[in-house]
Amino acid sequence: MWRPEGRCCPRPTSMIYPIVKYGQEVLEKPGAPVIQFDGSLEKLVADMFETMYAANGVGLAAPQIGLSLKLCVIDVSCGKDPNARVVLANPEIIATEGEQAEEEGCLSLPDFRAQTTRPLRATVRAQDLTGTDFTLSGEGLLARAFCHESDHLAGKLFISYLSRLKRDSIKRQIRRMVKAGEW
Ligand SMILES: [Zn+2]
Repeated sequence: MWRPEGRCCPRPTSMIYPIVKYGQEVLEKPGAPVIQFDGSLEKLVADMFETMYAANGVGLAAPQIGLSLKLCVIDVSCGKDPNARVVLANPEIIATEGEQAEEEGCLSLPDFRAQTTRPLRATVRAQDLTGTDFTLSGEGLLARAFCHESDHLAGKLFISYLSRLKRDSIKRQIRRMVKAGEW
């Protein structure tokens, strides 16, 4: 039976994407710039937030869901504060200050964490969902997220900041897990 559009139809639900793990090429190549700022970008961003929350992450970059695109979402409040939601299209870190060394992890390298040095403060310039330029400064975890996610869009992972010894050890463990079918 015909149903008037937009009346009793449920709102389209978000899609939760599987997260691409380390070893997939898409994670280590630069994403293409976002050029279309339309409804499909809005939908993609909503899905990225849902995917990130479902994975208990504070940041997610498009390559992590298999899309080679310069787009990422961040929410260091883990969904508690709607104002903490950040969408960065074509971001660029334009200023940094200080240093912080904290444990860092990545949804594409589940269960691996390592002390990683990052700027204490970072300012990012990006475009929002409408394509409008803006700059945003963050400190602590937010600055770390700006750097971590911007790196993703350049094909760079946090393990590249670790010592070769540590990085090789992580890669070895992952190879073992791949062989065992656990990755
Ligand atoms: Zn990551």
